[in-house]
Amino acid sequence: MSSSNDGPSNPKKPETRLVTAGRDTKGQRGFVNPPVFHGSTVLYPTAEDLHAHRAEFSYGRHGSPTTRALQDVLMSLEGPQCAGVGLAPSGLAAITTTLLSVLKAGDHLLVTDNVYRPSRNFCNGMLVRYGVEITYFDPLIGAGIERLFKPNTRAVLVEAPGSQSFEMSDIPAIAAVAHAKGALVIDDNTWATPLFHRSLDQGVDISMQAATKYIGGHSDIMFGTISANAKAWPLLTEGIRLLGVCAGPDDVFLALRGTRTLAVRLAQHHRSALEMARWLAARPEVLRVLHPALETHPGHDIWKRDFTGASGLFSIVLKPVPQAAVDALLDAVTLFGMGYSWGGFESLVIPFDCNAYRTATKWSPGGPTLRLHIGLENVDDLKADLDRGFAALKAAC
Ligand SMILES: *Cc1c(COP(=O)(O)O)cnc(C)c1O
Repeated sequence: MSSSNDGPSNPKKPETRLVTAGRDTKGQRGFVNPPVFHGSTVLYPTAEDLHAHRAEFSYGRHGSPTTRALQDVLMSLEGPQCAGVGLAPSGLAAITTTLLSVLKAGDHLLVTDNVYRPSRNFCNGMLVRYGVEITYFDPLIGAGIERLFKPNTRAVLVEAPGSQSFEMSDIPAIAAVAHAKGALVIDDNTWATPLFHRSLDQGVDISMQAATKYIGGHSDIMFGTISANAKAWPLLTEGIRLLGVCAGPDDVFLALRGTRTLAVRLAQHHRSALEMARWLAARPEVLRVLHPALETHPGHDIWKRDFTGASGLFSIVLKPVPQAAVDALLDAVTLFGMGYSWGGFESLVIPFDCNAYRTATKWSPGGPTLRLHIGLENVDDLKADLDRGFAALKAAC
């Protein structure tokens, strides 16, 4: 089916695998891309086949040639540890499906305090109701997480860097402790994608991502993916089947299309965001830039050790100014749109405040905080846009 089976003697580079994996040109009558299979019913040729469930595809919810093509690409990208990839209708659905597949009543779950806020809402709003006990931990805890384990600790949910505060957790250190204690490690790998962070190679058992962001890459789909190693995949595949989780065929196709250009888009996001981060770090209005690829970032060494690139999302801390001045900046910029999400082609800016929800740690950045997504516009235009924003900020002080 897939042409991704590069043997160990000839491992292709990730950029090549993104382009070649999941292609079945012969099955597609020569076309490079698979058709979008809109399908529920799959017909079985004989009664014997029906009784034996003998079919390449059995039912729309369980997959199609379109979903298989995407799963093959993602498996190839994740690397040899990956035993399977599940597809979900949103990034949040990928997280909730993962947690429901792994946990049961009476279990204890450790969650990083910088976790994506709706993931926290799910833990507090539903898992607690189902009898799961949650403890939030300092993202910088490292091997010190050992003291938080209980006999019933089933899993640890990590996210590095946090998508607002950009703290870098030491995932291999956390995973070493978790595995010694018999717990699974789940990583929200949305920021880096498996292209820049092969989390399954670093002790993570289940790596999920909001493919709404960089995999889709064009701000036009909601999508989630769940990749698991051989230890966790049986739980995941059972959970997905029992919950009835699947994704719509058009979104599957757009996610697949996004993977083909992921490497070039991310390389550009990396370059542009780093240039913008350095430019912002030199601005008099900016107190600090929270970008793990900057040498000044406290988590830089971890980023350098565990990641092969950085994406387009980072935050800045402004020197203290009234909120009205921050709002003046937000209203003055035009290339930076104000909106949630990220990972698309366009630049975005939002104010945020982690203290609104953190429980294990206190967030005291020292000034107003803004999160920036650096899109694929020319960086000189983006700098000119922020120049306008900073002029408006100063005028409003
Ligand atoms: C956006 C996001 C999600 C959720 O993805 P949706 O597709 O919006 O449901 C999960 N984790 C992180 C880090 C995200 O940024």
